[in-house]
Amino acid sequence: MDNRFVSKNLLSQSSQFVKGVGPSRQVLLSRLGIETVEDLIMHFPRNYYDRRDLITVSEIVPKQQVTFVAAVLAVSLRRARRGQTVLTVAVGDETGIVNLVFFNQPYLEKQFKQGIKVIVSGELRFYKGQKQLISPEYEVISGELDQSLLHTGRIVPVYPLTSGISQRMMRRIVRSALEKCMGKISENLPADLCGNLGFPEREEAFRHIHYPENWEKLERAVKRFKFEEVFFLHLLLKERRQNLIQRKQRPRIPSPHPLLEDFLGNLPFDLTVAQRRVLAEIKGDVESGSGLNRLLQGDVGSGKTVVGIAAMMMALGKGFQATLMVPTEILAQQHYERICQYLNGLPVKATLLIGSMSRGEKERIHKDLIGGGVDLVVGTHTLIQEGISFKQLGLAVIDEQHRFGVKQRARLGEGDLLPHFLVMTATPIPRTLAQTVYGDLDLSLLDELPVGKRRVRTEIVEQDDRDQVYEIVREAFKAGHQAFILYPLVQESERTDLLAATEEFERLQAEELREFPLGLLHGKMSFEEKAKAIDMFRKGEILGLVTTTVIEVGVDIPNATILVINNPERFGLAQLHQLRGRVGRGGEEGICFLILGHNMGDTSVERLSFFASSDDGFKVAEEDLKRRGPGEIWGIRQSGYPAFRLINPLIDHGIVQCSWRESDRLLRRDPGLKHPENRVVADYYHLYYRSRMELAEIG
Ligand code: ADP
Ligand code: MG
Repeated sequence: MDNRFVSKNLLSQSSQFVKGVGPSRQVLLSRLGIETVEDLIMHFPRNYYDRRDLITVSEIVPKQQVTFVAAVLAVSLRRARRGQTVLTVAVGDETGIVNLVFFNQPYLEKQFKQGIKVIVSGELRFYKGQKQLISPEYEVISGELDQSLLHTGRIVPVYPLTSGISQRMMRRIVRSALEKCMGKISENLPADLCGNLGFPEREEAFRHIHYPENWEKLERAVKRFKFEEVFFLHLLLKERRQNLIQRKQRPRIPSPHPLLEDFLGNLPFDLTVAQRRVLAEIKGDVESGSGLNRLLQGDVGSGKTVVGIAAMMMALGKGFQATLMVPTEILAQQHYERICQYLNGLPVKATLLIGSMSRGEKERIHKDLIGGGVDLVVGTHTLIQEGISFKQLGLAVIDEQHRFGVKQRARLGEGDLLPHFLVMTATPIPRTLAQTVYGDLDLSLLDELPVGKRRVRTEIVEQDDRDQVYEIVREAFKAGHQAFILYPLVQESERTDLLAATEEFERLQAEELREFPLGLLHGKMSFEEKAKAIDMFRKGEILGLVTTTVIEVGVDIPNATILVINNPERFGLAQLHQLRGRVGRGGEEGICFLILGHNMGDTSVERLSFFASSDDGFKVAEEDLKRRGPGEIWGIRQSGYPAFRLINPLIDHGIVQCSWRESDRLLRRDPGLKHPENRVVADYYHLYYRSRMELAEIG
C-alpha cells in the first residue's frame, strides 16, 4: 500500500482508538474540538513547566516549585470529616523525609507501594509544623530516569483541558497518540527550506512541541508550526489568485476612458492626489491581462466611494455592466442617489436593487440585467443571495468588505466571464494581517483626506455630566446643525443596564430636547421606515436622530456635526471610529461625545482614552486588533478557519513575511508543485490542506 496513504489514514483515525481514550472520554475530548488522532497531536500545550533540575529532599525550601526523586517509605489513608479522605505518603532519600498529601483520591493508595521510587514535582508547605507537598505531580519510576517520563523530571507540557479530563490524563493521551504516529508523520515542507530556516523535521517538531528536550528545540518547533499555518494558506491564496487570473477571462478594459473623464468633469470637486493615484492603479489593472483584484483601504471620509464609482465608469464605458454592493439597504439607497447626481446627463442606466423591493420590481430588474437594459446596479447582499445574472458584468465594487462574506465575493465570479473586483474597507488592516487574510488581493491605500475635511474632536464624558452635552446639542440645533444620538442596541433581553433607543427617544423628546424635532432609527424598523427617517434627517426636518449602530457604515449627512455615543465601552474601537466618521463631513468641525456607562473598568477607560486621543484609523484598528485579536474583527473565528492555533499575524510579522517570500519563491520555481522534491508539499497541500480549507469560508 502507498505509504502516504497509511499515514494520512492514521492521522484521520478517530481519537477513540488511542490508548486511554474510550467512548466516554471521547465525548469530553470533542468539547475541545478533538476528534481524530491528528487533532490530538495538534493539541498543543498552552504552557510548560521546567522540571529538569533535581534536588535532594534536604534542599527542598518552602514556596518554591521543586523536583526530586525519593523512595516511598510509608503510606497512610485516613478518613477525615464529612467523608473526606486524606492519603499521606512519606517519601525520602539519604538526606531527609517529606510527606506527600492527596485529598479524596483513596485509589492512589495502591500506586504508592512501599519501596518503589517516585519522582515528584510540587511546592512545599508547612502544615502544623509538618513539611508537606499537597497534591504534587508525581510519577513512579523504574530504574533510570529516561525520556518516557510524562509529568516530571523534564520540561513538562501543560495542556488546555476540559472538565473531566485531568492534566495527567491529557498528557498520557497525547503521548500515546504521539507514539502511535512516530515514524509515520510525513514531512510537508521542502527540505531545503527547512534547512535554510533551521526548522526541525515535522515529526521531530511534534515531539519537541509536546516534550521539548530544551527551550531552544521548543522554540524551533513552535516556529515551524507557526510557519506552516501561514505557508499553506499563502499557497492557497496564491493559487486562488492564479486561478482568477488564468482560468477565466477577465474583461479587457483598455484606455482611453471618455465616460470616466465626463464623470470626473461632473464631480463638484477635484480628486485628491491619493484618489488619482489609486484610480491609476485600478486603470493599470483593468487594462492588463491579470485584471483587478484589489483591496482599497482608506480611513472614513477619505473618498473611497467616489473612486469605486469612477472605476465603474471605465467598465461601463466599454459596454460592460458594473455593480456596487454595500452591506445595508440604507447605504445602497444613499449611494444610488449620489451616483444619480454624479451621473447627471451621462448615458448610463442605473438602478437600485434591494431586498425590500416588491417581487415584480425585482423580477423586472433581473430581466434588465440579463438583457442588458441596465448598466449599473447598486444593491445589497440580496444581489447575490437571489442568484441574479448579468449580461456581462465587468466590475464588481464591494464596499465595506468586513461585513461581507468572502464566499459571496466568489459567487459573483460564477458566470463565464469573471468580473474585476474592487473591495473597499474603512477598517485598515495592518499589512501582515492583510497578507494573511486577503493575500489574493493587491493593496491600495487612500492616505489623504479630501481638502476642507476637518477632524472630529472626541470627548469623554462622565454620566453625571451628560446635561452639559445636551446643552451643547441644543446650541448646535439653534445654529442649524444636526446630531446623531446613539445607543448600543434595542433588544429587550439586553436592556438590563442599558437604555433602549426607543425609550430614550421618548424621554429626550419630552425633556432635554423637547423644543426640537427628533427622529428614531433602529434595526427593527422596516426599510421604508428607515429610509423615511434618514430622508427627513437629510432634509433637516429632523434635527436629532436617535439611533443604534445601523448608521455605522457610510451614512453621509454633511450637516450633522455632533455624535453622542452612550455606553461607548460596548463598542470595539474600529467600530467607534466608523461611527465618529459620520460627523463633521460638511466642513464644520465634528464633535463626538462618549458618555461613559456606570461601573467602567480601568481597561475600558484606558482604551477609550486612547481612542479619543487618536484620529488615525490605522492606529485605532491596530490597537483594537491587539486587544481583541483579528478573529473578532474580520470574522475569522466565525468562518471556521482552521489555522491560527499558534501564530498571531500581528505579532509574528517576521514569520508571515518569511512565508510570503518563501511561498513566492517556491511557486516561481515550480508553479504546479510538480518537481519530485516538492512532492511532500504538494501531497500535504492537495490531499489535506486545500480540501479542508474549501469547506471554510475564507478567501
Ligand atoms: P468613505 O467611503 O471613504 O468614507 P466617501 O466616499 O463617502 O468616503 O466620501 C466622503 C465625502 O467626501 C463624500 O461626501 C464625498 O462626496 C466627499 N469627497 C470625496 N472625494 C472628495 C474630494 N476629492 N474632494 C472633496 N470631497 C470629496
Ligand atoms: Mg464609504
